[in-house]
Amino acid sequence: ASDGRVERIASTIRVIPDFPKPGILFQDITTLLLDPQAFRDTTDLFVERYKDKGITVVAGVEARGFIFGPPIALAIGAKFVPIRKPKKLPGEVISEEYSLEYGTDKIEMHVGAVQPNDRVVIVDDLIATGGTLSAAAKLIERVGAEVVECACVIELPELKGRDKLGNRPVFVLVQAE
Ligand code: AMP
Repeated sequence: ASDGRVERIASTIRVIPDFPKPGILFQDITTLLLDPQAFRDTTDLFVERYKDKGITVVAGVEARGFIFGPPIALAIGAKFVPIRKPKKLPGEVISEEYSLEYGTDKIEMHVGAVQPNDRVVIVDDLIATGGTLSAAAKLIERVGAEVVECACVIELPELKGRDKLGNRPVFVLVQAE
């Protein structure tokens, strides 16, 4: 039961055309963060969904997964694990490459942060093509842990990011057009 909370959250997201380049409709969650009730409702909706599912890790994807992930992890008593852009994490890492429209990108995770018996929810602000989340899911699965679900505030359904995630469930609050 989201009882109007999702509508309120959706109304706080600012859409900026042609950022960071022409043709992109940028979904800006910084305006959601300016509305404390909407920010609380966002994390509450995820906490309500995950609190009784035996989740042991919330993995947040840089950068906006670092905003929504930690309050969820604290509320459900799970570890928070940052998944970062290359050369940011100081310890030993495993990395996963994924393709962009032009070229490739890479994300990394600390070795030992996630253990084989962990049950993981991956958090980011938005799923577009699904490339980022599917690379994050591969990192988690390479260490033998289970990706229980990928959780995002916003989905761009036209880009069919769920297809790239295969069987892994995706949960989103707001569908953008
Ligand atoms: P993708 O890997 O294509 O699913 O892209 C998801 C990542 O890119 C997320 O970390 C988003 O924050 C960012 N992103 C992609 N498209 C947009 C958009 N239209 N507005 C805001 N962020 C976006």
